[in-house]
Amino acid sequence: MITIGNYVKPKTLEEAYELNQARSSRVMGGMMWMRLGNARVKTIIDLSDLGLDQIEDEGNVIKIGAMCTLRQIEQCEALKELYGDGIAESVRHIVGVQFRNQATIGGSIYGRFGFSDVLTAFLALDTFVELYDGGTIRLSEFVNRRPDKDILLSIIVRKSKRKFRYGSIRQTKTDFPVIACSVVTGMVHGQETWYFSVGARPMKAALLEKQWEIPSDASEEIIAEYAKQAATEFTYGSNMRGSAEYRQHLAEVLIRREMASILAEGR
Ligand SMILES: Cc1cc2nc3c(=O)[nH]c(=O)nc-3n(C[C@H](O)[C@H](O)[C@H](O)COP(=O)(O)OP(=O)(O)OC[C@H]3O[C@@H](n4cnc5c(N)ncnc54)[C@H](O)[C@@H]3O)c2cc1C
Repeated sequence: MITIGNYVKPKTLEEAYELNQARSSRVMGGMMWMRLGNARVKTIIDLSDLGLDQIEDEGNVIKIGAMCTLRQIEQCEALKELYGDGIAESVRHIVGVQFRNQATIGGSIYGRFGFSDVLTAFLALDTFVELYDGGTIRLSEFVNRRPDKDILLSIIVRKSKRKFRYGSIRQTKTDFPVIACSVVTGMVHGQETWYFSVGARPMKAALLEKQWEIPSDASEEIIAEYAKQAATEFTYGSNMRGSAEYRQHLAEVLIRREMASILAEGR
């Protein structure tokens, strides 16, 4: 059970950050994960008065405030226009609509959970995180940092002409994924580049980048070879949801399907 001493709703980011420096303080997002834990929290810091609940299209980037819910992301037209149904697909299986109306992107990314669909999806895109104290850094760097006392303000996705696909496998609907995979491709510095992100390995999502020039009419066998190569470059572990070998097999299948879908659409 979680026990909370004081509940505070700061009026400024500075106040929120200062309060969070105490060892027994915690920032809250939607509280959906934290409330299940066992902790004695002296001060819980609610960020909901700080204007962090908007998704803004700023021309060359999309800025998602940390307090935006997963449901907002699922329904965001700007993300849909850029990446089709991929982003919505990445959150669609998380529990249910009421849950997604409360769980936040800030809590999901800050938590760096191994099972995270959200992290797996955004890691493959050109994504940055904006931190109150730590500035703006790549999500791929943030994901490997140890949790500290900073506050995550927003997730920033740089717009570019990239194709994005997302897939996950669950043993039962709404369960945590057994494996989750994103594939993204686009031209980077004049080179065709493929990004692969695999999460729920069961370790947290990791990113792989490849400069592969694959013709749109590549045969199924060739795509399968590339998918196999990508899948073998990640490490996998075993837990109650599946063995390392099973996960690697599923990753290979999902990557192959996602690559084939991108190639079929044409780049
Ligand atoms: C039953 C259940 C099933 C789930 N299934 C899935 C699933 O299948 N796939 C999936 O991807 N996710 C799943 N999740 C995770 C969920 O989607 C959210 O990621 C999780 O609830 C955290 O989001 P939150 O807003 O509730 O954060 P909270 O629980 O409020 O916070 C989580 C952590 O992040 C910190 N934090 C929150 N916001 C900030 C911030 N702005 N700055 C700094 N630190 C911050 C908190 O201090 C805390 O340590 C599941 C969760 C539950 C409870």
